[in-house]
Amino acid sequence: MQAFDGKKAAQDYMSTNSMSYSTPELILNRFAFWLGDTVTNPDNKSEPTSRVMTYMTREVVEPPVVEDVYVPSGAVLNSLASHKVEDAPKFCPECGMKLSAKAKFCHQCGITQ
Ligand SMILES: [Zn+2]
Repeated sequence: MQAFDGKKAAQDYMSTNSMSYSTPELILNRFAFWLGDTVTNPDNKSEPTSRVMTYMTREVVEPPVVEDVYVPSGAVLNSLASHKVEDAPKFCPECGMKLSAKAKFCHQCGITQ
């Protein structure tokens, strides 16, 4: 029998579609619509097929191990990375005092940043 290789489909989807600024509901819906897209049938170019059919395989598909552990990725990872940049200290151009990146004025000389 043919089996649906959901793991490969999910990996392909995640590598070609942004997960940024999406809710889980939106991602799930988009993934389902993506699977239903009409694509060129690799076995019969004149007969289009649903993308889901291109993930049907006769190989034994191991059920993917889905660990219920939150691993930050995509936009979350980017925001974590940019947060680090924000934390990098800056220095007062007037007196050289080390200031936090978000400081609006210098604590030492009072100059506005
Ligand atoms: Zn200063």
